[in-house]
Amino acid sequence: MRAEIISIGTELLLGQITDTNAATLGEFLARQGITHTHRQTVGDNLPRIVEAIQLALTRAEIIFTIGGLGPTPDDLTRLAIAQSIGEELTLDEAIKAHLIEEYGKRGLKMSESQFRQAERPPSGTPIPNPNGTAPGLHTEKDNHHIFALPGPKSEFGPMLAGPVKEILGQIHSGDPLHSRTLRVVGVSEAIIGEKLASLMDAKNPTVAPYAKTGEVHLRITTSAATTEEADKIINPIADQIHTILGSAIYAEGEESLAAWIIQELTRRGQTIATAESCTGGLLAAEFTSIDGSSKVFPAGFVTYSAESKHRELGVDLETLRTHGTVAEPTAIEMATGARELAQTDFAISITGVAGAVPLDEPPSPKASGLVFVGIASPQGNAVHRLHFRGSRDIIRTRAVIAALIRFRDILIVI
Ligand code: ATP
Ligand code: MG
Repeated sequence: MRAEIISIGTELLLGQITDTNAATLGEFLARQGITHTHRQTVGDNLPRIVEAIQLALTRAEIIFTIGGLGPTPDDLTRLAIAQSIGEELTLDEAIKAHLIEEYGKRGLKMSESQFRQAERPPSGTPIPNPNGTAPGLHTEKDNHHIFALPGPKSEFGPMLAGPVKEILGQIHSGDPLHSRTLRVVGVSEAIIGEKLASLMDAKNPTVAPYAKTGEVHLRITTSAATTEEADKIINPIADQIHTILGSAIYAEGEESLAAWIIQELTRRGQTIATAESCTGGLLAAEFTSIDGSSKVFPAGFVTYSAESKHRELGVDLETLRTHGTVAEPTAIEMATGARELAQTDFAISITGVAGAVPLDEPPSPKASGLVFVGIASPQGNAVHRLHFRGSRDIIRTRAVIAALIRFRDILIVI
């Protein structure tokens, strides 16, 4: 059985709201093992909604509409579904009574237009709305199911996870999908594609790379009745990928690079500090977002000006005069200063130019995107010169990821 999603709402077309419900539903369908082949977005316009539903009926057996179930004149989904399956809307007295009761509980009286929410095509049944008043709608005709779900996220999610999942369980009997994600750093998507070409051609399990900022996620997916059965199919492929990519795989599942570092330092009983300039504390935020990081990360310094680099971290005035704030020696002194002040085993520093224009400082201007990452460790100090392109946000994000990757490179060899 194939599924198709139709998101309804002019606001979606105008980009005023993002279609998060369709993304939630797409993920849900994958987990249920339901093949989902098309997605449409259509405005609040009756003939166009009918056209979208009729097109979906030609290529899918399970159709979901999202939105347009409310009481206002631009809520046209019920009517469009009725027209698409050649039926007339009729008032469902039971739904009407339910709505009157629900509104009454909140001390509200229903207006005439709100009774539109009690209408349904005769072959439809209402779907309970665990988190709202108006029900959704499920129709079944000629082996085609249409599920009409409400737009508000707080109603959409619970309706999907509750009653819709239950009905789908009765009409669809495929095995759910299981997947495992291997997180890779320091190897580009293209190189991964070359190294894993034969695995990526295979059909079961499938292996697919997803490029993320600064890393690549490899997702291994199969369909199976149970997790144990899925593991039997996924494990040997995961092992092969581990052999091919080695230490470039830093974690499996949801663990971020910062989380891996915090975990590794905790295991070793070691600590780290940060000294940041252009990233303004983003690296410290990465560490502090991890539960239990306080044992490992006692302090982070944000030193934005040349003076504060000297005053707070003890960067030599001579270094700043001779090389400037964005320079190798400055990055090293920031890291060693932070390490000493915070009395940690390691420290990472970041100094760079995140702005769009070059930084005009003596002895020479520094290009936009130029970033230095310094790492101070018991084994000595290292510094990396990096160059990023993009907006201020992108440069700052990439600088943080680069710092985490370089630090991991050091951690795994010492
Ligand atoms: P209501 O009874 O509130 O009118 P409805 O079922 O008619 O609900 P819409 O009018 O289409 O739904 O949308 C109501 C609100 O739900 C939108 O303003 C938006 O905030 C949210 N919404 C609608 N569709 C989506 C979607 N596909 N993804 C995320 N949010 C959505
Ligand atoms: Mg509405």
